[in-house]
Amino acid sequence: MALNGVADQRFRVLFEPVKIGPVTAPNRFYQVPHCTGMGYSHPATLAAMREIKAEGGWGVVNTEYCSIHPSSDDLPAPFCSLWDDGDIANMAAMANGVHRHGALAGVELWYGGQRSSNNHSRLATLAPVSMPVSHAPWQSQRMDLADIRAYRRWHRDAARRARTAGFDIVYVYAAHTYLLGQFLDPAGNQRNDDYGGSLINRTRLLREVLEDTCEEIGQSCAIALRIEVLNEDGGGKDERSELLQSLSPLVDLFDVTIPDYAVEMGASRFVKEASLEAHVAHVKALTGKPVVSVGRFTSPETILGQIRRGVLDFIGAARPSIADPFLPSKIRDGAFDDIRECIGCNVCYAMDGLGVPIRCTQNPTMGEEWRRGWHPERVNICRSPEPVLIVGSGPAGLEAAVTLGKRGVPVLLAEAENELGGRVTREARLPGLSEWARVRDWRVQQLAKLPAVEIFRGSRMTRQDVIDTGVRHVVVAAGSSWRRDGRGQSSVTSIPSFNDARVFTPDQIMAGERPSGPVVIFDDEHYYMASCLAELLAREGHEVTFVTSGSVVAPWTLHTMEQARIQSSLLALGVTIIVSHAVTGLGAGTAKLNCLYAGTSRDLPCGGLVTVTARQPEEELWHALQDAGLASLARIGDCKAPGLIAQAVYDGHAYGEDYGLASGEREMRRERVVLGP
Ligand code: ADP
Ligand code: SF4
Repeated sequence: MALNGVADQRFRVLFEPVKIGPVTAPNRFYQVPHCTGMGYSHPATLAAMREIKAEGGWGVVNTEYCSIHPSSDDLPAPFCSLWDDGDIANMAAMANGVHRHGALAGVELWYGGQRSSNNHSRLATLAPVSMPVSHAPWQSQRMDLADIRAYRRWHRDAARRARTAGFDIVYVYAAHTYLLGQFLDPAGNQRNDDYGGSLINRTRLLREVLEDTCEEIGQSCAIALRIEVLNEDGGGKDERSELLQSLSPLVDLFDVTIPDYAVEMGASRFVKEASLEAHVAHVKALTGKPVVSVGRFTSPETILGQIRRGVLDFIGAARPSIADPFLPSKIRDGAFDDIRECIGCNVCYAMDGLGVPIRCTQNPTMGEEWRRGWHPERVNICRSPEPVLIVGSGPAGLEAAVTLGKRGVPVLLAEAENELGGRVTREARLPGLSEWARVRDWRVQQLAKLPAVEIFRGSRMTRQDVIDTGVRHVVVAAGSSWRRDGRGQSSVTSIPSFNDARVFTPDQIMAGERPSGPVVIFDDEHYYMASCLAELLAREGHEVTFVTSGSVVAPWTLHTMEQARIQSSLLALGVTIIVSHAVTGLGAGTAKLNCLYAGTSRDLPCGGLVTVTARQPEEELWHALQDAGLASLARIGDCKAPGLIAQAVYDGHAYGEDYGLASGEREMRRERVVLGP
């Protein structure tokens, strides 16, 4: 038995209890408040997901932003609520679930101010000044003193409800440009009364809310302050330091960050682990209070370093806790190679922004804990484990193999190439995407521990090969290939002139083929692929023009918060950008462009055209096996419906979980309001 239950004693410091005001966290692993796309409309889904984080060893588990009043409404982005006593039971479900595993439950009380457009509640947005609200052509109402008093009362009431719901930590939220941050900001707060102007005036409301919260619940709950160490414009470090220091007596824990969310929540393509350290390292000494911050921490050594070097008291995590809810337990147990490291793709964030429960590329069980009863670490042993042949080792095939293997099912995994990983292996070689290889690496490492899974590399399977294995259950996970005929969102029919040696697909470029002369990249898909190829070719010295049918470069990456970085980095590399155009054909030395709005045409010099349009599912083998007399035949991942890596992993997992179950056992639960009699 390991001393204190920690296998490697170097990591013991991570498992020390830490006092936060009147409460004590069992260890230093702290799931910071993070959005889930679940909010008040999915309380059971939410409670089950948060409980699993506590089960996985997170010492503190927080809610997402929790609105204190209907005038702080962010729909369509989902959020929790403590608007009235009717919300208490649902929030208590989460707190109770977290407590069942000995962790502390925290709640992030939130008031959006200028950033709440109140689409649903239709109440006027209250803010320091009357200015346009986020993403809407209407304005906020400047808060007068009566509004400020009302806001303080709502906050106080919500804090009391939070305590009644069982929360141990209550946040005062003064970051991420929400109301209290708006009051603090010297540029945006143009008031000339007691709540604007000097630092003391801009801080007044925050100080009052902290005092109210201390008075209301401070005896029993810890008070956390989420705040930035810089002003909105990235300056004001001295002023903020003075502020943090002066607020310290009212605060039990500082949750600190910087105003640039694209760094705090940066995708791995642009931002690496521990990116905030240089900005927040001074807060601990400054305040003398426990400090938490984030940095997409997944490496045990980096995590240990943050504590040992005195940067932080708590390892804050959102994405690492999504990708691996059991990260703390795995560090405790010394099971380092079982850690499912976040790849920094921000698909989790994208889904929340789209108003649906989050999902995760690495962790297919995320968001399915309640609905499908999935667990990130446990699967049910299969009752009648007949062997399965999986054809293809991309993310879908690998995940299916891991899930089946853990269920005790003998698996034959056949891969045409010598390398495993399918598209992930190819794409992780693109600029900035190296961390995506973790999707393959974690699964390959797991397979090495599953003797019932046999892997056959360099084995391209034909119909006869499949039949010859004698395996009666077959799942085809053969992936997809990029089209070169121009068909996609902009063109439903193929473009005859694309049948030309100057046309290259992403697969060809990733395989090392190169065009000569000026390169035109046509992005009709709108995610990362075209921009990665543009970066690759521009860095190799090609003259690149990026033509997109979108109105900005890579519009879907607005959801993953990469869009601005992608467009500006292409410009910095000298890539010419043409938006709202489709490439409609090839001429002699030219590509033909059509403006999607004006309908006008123009020619562009073109030695090679890279088409990023749509993908063709590799379904040939699946069709060929229809009459092969198999007991079961399925297809999963991109060979069924080309999509995100996250979708392929999910599909592979669902196959593995459902294999051998009767149809009634696979049903998904629905969370819905049911009217009474
Ligand atoms: P997904 O995202 O659905 O997992 P990928 O394209 O990443 O799909 O992976 C598909 C994998 O299937 C590739 O590694 C490819 O080499 C492999 N594959 C395709 N056809 C066959 C086949 N007939 N036999 C064995 N492997 C195959
Ligand atoms: Fe990390 Fe991507 Fe999972 Fe989000 S979706 S937690 S960024 S792996």
